[in-house]
Amino acid sequence: MTVASCLDDLPITRLIGVGEKVAEKLGRLDIVSVADVLFHLPFRYEDRSKVISIGALKPGHSCLFEGRVEIAEVVFRGRRSMLVRLSDGTGFVTLRFFHFSNSQKQTMQRGQWLRCFGDVKVYSKSAGPEVVHPEYQLISEHKRGQLDEGLLAVYPVTEGLHQMSFRKLIKQAFALLKNGAYVHDFLPEKLLKELRFVPLVESLQQLHYPQSMPSDVSDIPAFKRLIFEELLANHLSLSRLKQGVQQWDAPSLKLSDDSQQQFLRELGFDLTAAQRRVVDEIASDLKATKPMQRLLQGDVGSGKTVVATCAALQAIQAGYQVAIMAPTELLAEQHFKNFQSWLAKMNIRVDCLVGRHKGAIYNEKTSAIQAGETDVVIGTQALFQDKIEFAKLGLIIIDEQHRFGVQQRLALRDKGIRDGSCPHQLVMTATPIPRTLAMLGYADLDLSVIDELPPGRIPVTTTILPVSKKQRVIDRIKQGVENGRQVYWVCTLIEESETLQCQAAEAAAELLVNSLQGVKIGLVHGRMKADEKEAVMAKFKQQELHILVATTVIEVGVDVPNASLMVIENAERLGLAQLHQLRGRVGRGHRDSHCVLMYQSPLSSNANERLSIMRKTTDGFKIAEKDMQLRGHGELLGKRQAGFMRFKVADMARDAHMLDNVAQCATEVLQKHTELVEPLVHRWVANSAEYAQV
Ligand code: ADP
Ligand code: MG
Repeated sequence: MTVASCLDDLPITRLIGVGEKVAEKLGRLDIVSVADVLFHLPFRYEDRSKVISIGALKPGHSCLFEGRVEIAEVVFRGRRSMLVRLSDGTGFVTLRFFHFSNSQKQTMQRGQWLRCFGDVKVYSKSAGPEVVHPEYQLISEHKRGQLDEGLLAVYPVTEGLHQMSFRKLIKQAFALLKNGAYVHDFLPEKLLKELRFVPLVESLQQLHYPQSMPSDVSDIPAFKRLIFEELLANHLSLSRLKQGVQQWDAPSLKLSDDSQQQFLRELGFDLTAAQRRVVDEIASDLKATKPMQRLLQGDVGSGKTVVATCAALQAIQAGYQVAIMAPTELLAEQHFKNFQSWLAKMNIRVDCLVGRHKGAIYNEKTSAIQAGETDVVIGTQALFQDKIEFAKLGLIIIDEQHRFGVQQRLALRDKGIRDGSCPHQLVMTATPIPRTLAMLGYADLDLSVIDELPPGRIPVTTTILPVSKKQRVIDRIKQGVENGRQVYWVCTLIEESETLQCQAAEAAAELLVNSLQGVKIGLVHGRMKADEKEAVMAKFKQQELHILVATTVIEVGVDVPNASLMVIENAERLGLAQLHQLRGRVGRGHRDSHCVLMYQSPLSSNANERLSIMRKTTDGFKIAEKDMQLRGHGELLGKRQAGFMRFKVADMARDAHMLDNVAQCATEVLQKHTELVEPLVHRWVANSAEYAQV
């Protein structure tokens, strides 16, 4: 093969063993060029540097071992399988194959030596160690112990492509590099010097062929450079998204002071200074002729709904429609009621559209939207169904953003694009996101923060108790109910199935019913139909129920100001962010509120720390910072942002300290090296094509 100069431009089909079919499979992993294969990074390593004698095999570990076939037989116990018994003089091990070919069986002759690698398990003491489907190769006896591998990188694979295929491709790519080919180093030279980064090829070399088992990859300078590059690429991809949107025009929505004044007068309370400020920020965005893309962060109970209503009013008065999207039907209905009660008297037509609206009702609602007869429509995912057309959509409001992925948000916005004009977008979240994280995770949005709670709120008092004190808690509830309090009793079983969680809630409800005569108790859980849940919630809201037993379905957004007592079972199993969200359901009224966190002993030190933080503060931002320290960004951005921010080498919790530098560098690249944006994003961000289209 002739050596092409740049591997970024060399198609993968130029490597030996890559025909059309393989290329297609590689394409599924976004591997198109030879450089792409170098950036297909391992996610762990296996130690193939020493052979373990069979007598010393450690159950629960992946081991490399060699042995002579003593016996190979096909058995039919339960399932047809081939068992191969190996020995090396120090002990015996059984290999078990559920899938095997005849020729495979033929090779397992008594006396044949095998070199194997696999997970060692012990199912029963008498049977000894066993390995299911090990990787193996036949060796001759005199080759025993002659290893040519050290640490072996393990790659993400796709159907029909095996580890070996990747190893071969990567080997070829490095061979080309040795013969004068190169990959682009996109990082500006100044930066490389400043941050003392290792050159690109050296970094890649160390990742694919590490010298020793990396215990903490972030300690290795070679990784740092790649982590930085990946974070930068992600930042740039979002910034580009934002720029992309700025190419559209947006309707300039003039603020009608009168209607806003009227609305605020009738509210019954004054906006807090923070609410005021954010309302103004949004108002000036909406007046502009470029689409607003704003993230509104405000702790639970900080009053985001009123702010959203002001924004909606502005759009409606300017003659446009507003779509509001909530993560659950329950929340959609709650917003609907709020908006209805606030806006209907101003002759604004508010409607609600959720999954259960079908047939004639659905058609009626969607044609009203299409005809422009509906001013505000509040809904769930149902709002993105392709059939729904808006007559004149001017503003999209998305509540509790963390439930939606970026793609969903974009899909909704695209619906509104008409003749080169794009609706404004307001995204609201109650998950406090530390600033550095927000800079990366939401680099496509401007940020507004409500950093103050409405006056008169008394901070929730939090108590931590072992589950053995449950009776005491129940007694306290009894007292509370007698004093007119309403109570949430939250059951959590985080790892287990939803079914189990519902069973736990049912059991808890039963216990309470039996211990508290005359107290009215309702139950909501995830397996109930939406309208059943809604009915129970409505009863609780109207104070027809004293206690609401619930699974974590009530985590988001539900507003029942009279509820002032919350008990959370197995609180130690929840993350801080979730505990904070849950606790935010109480402390909304004017009386003192209490939250009891019950735990199963013994408490791990991490769980202990989490619960103590909850007792010490009610400040969502403090809790979020602590959460990030204790268990990473996962809950904050990663998992909830489905399909977004899946990193190859970076780990937001571990690498968050780089983000300031990353943001700075991104700004510089966007100003001075725009030509680098596309190739960097292409190299690191999965499905970059999808992003580019937006
Ligand atoms: P969240 O930000 O969690 O969505 P909500 O919008 O549901 O909060 O508001 C929580 C409660 O506080 C609601 O009952 C709302 O009417 C009330 N509220 C909002 N703003 C104020 C204010 N400035 N003064 C008093 N009460 C307010
Ligand atoms: Mg809310």
